[in-house]
Amino acid sequence: MNLVNEEKKYVYQTYRRFELILVKGKGQFVWDDRGKKYLDFFAGVSVCNIGHCHPRVVGAIREQASRLLHVSNHYYTAPQIMLARDLVRRTFPGQVFFSNSGAEANECAIKLVRKWSNDRHPGQNRYEIIAFENSFHGRTMATLTATGQEKFHKGFEPLLPGFRYARYNDISSVDALINKHTAAIMIEPVLGEGGVYPASAEFIKALRARCDKHNLLLVFDEIQTGLGRTGRLFAYEHYGIKPDIITLGKSLAGGLPIGATIAKKDLAGVFGYGDHGSTFGGDPLPCAAAREVLGVISPSLVRDIRVRGAYFAKGLQRIKNKFPQLVKEVRSTGLMLAMELEFPGREIVEYCQKRGLLINCTQNTALRFLPPFIITRADIDKAIGILEESLIWVALKR
Ligand SMILES: *Cc1c(COP(=O)(O)O)cnc(C)c1O
Repeated sequence: MNLVNEEKKYVYQTYRRFELILVKGKGQFVWDDRGKKYLDFFAGVSVCNIGHCHPRVVGAIREQASRLLHVSNHYYTAPQIMLARDLVRRTFPGQVFFSNSGAEANECAIKLVRKWSNDRHPGQNRYEIIAFENSFHGRTMATLTATGQEKFHKGFEPLLPGFRYARYNDISSVDALINKHTAAIMIEPVLGEGGVYPASAEFIKALRARCDKHNLLLVFDEIQTGLGRTGRLFAYEHYGIKPDIITLGKSLAGGLPIGATIAKKDLAGVFGYGDHGSTFGGDPLPCAAAREVLGVISPSLVRDIRVRGAYFAKGLQRIKNKFPQLVKEVRSTGLMLAMELEFPGREIVEYCQKRGLLINCTQNTALRFLPPFIITRADIDKAIGILEESLIWVALKR
């Protein structure tokens, strides 16, 4: 049986996959079905951030799986409650709603904004959310609409009403959109899928000030940036401000599906009984895993992320200086990095794969690196070596 052919026959063709069947993962490495080993600098779009199959996560899953997998949210379960407490302790006083994905976490945030605004300003149609060009917030109808990229909208109209798009890092474009119908501003502190563009400190501070002045909610989508990726536990910590709502997903449960929406204390009463819900949201299994993930991400690991990120960025910068015709720019924050190419990056991704390195390319020309936090200097040196080789190969071809 040829698995790839079967996939083409039986699975919806929404993913343009690489010809690679993965069967095993451990730490910063994965193995394919032929036993070949790869250094994983993508970590499942920043999901396996503490490494594949982390022993503490696997242990918690085994233990929880043998005890209780699911009961409905009609009852209490300890892992959900303890995880909510852990998250609030590491963010700000507030409450958490659990779901199963990043899109659902954002969906919840959008519903919170609407309910809050409707409660507070009944009949005033204050429901507009200002989102940003080149953002990415998910694939459900609401989060798709929040995503400020036409390519994701095409064919799915009509979109959800009430979204406007400002230019990232351009406060005057935000000011131009604030009106009496505005309820919130929703932003990724670093554009992820959009190509790793960090927001400037002045911009985020100005957004916070606008929200305070006009009584708007500031929603941070930290689904990709959260839990250490940018060299702080949460990206908002770089800016000395606090958002009103943050959304998490991806890495939170160490490789199991989860979404979490954390809202500040004042918003606690916004959802009442029956206002929102999820069959699997907050299940014991992902919540038990997530508690271990939070436990692993210690202040010293977060410090290491900054050190390793800076070392990696320096290596990429060296490559850029060596190949000014091929490399346009290097962008980075913590272990979230991109190398912008002057040409489509897919051939580089494929070259690296052949040489045993998994990376990603987004927006056609931005090589994106989201390695697990546990990588060593030797791993970075190896990745830099392969990348350099790939550019020599491209240069020679030309
Ligand atoms: C991945 C991602 C999402 C969507 O998460 P899903 O789990 O795929 O629904 C939303 N926002 C950001 C910033 C993301 O990186």
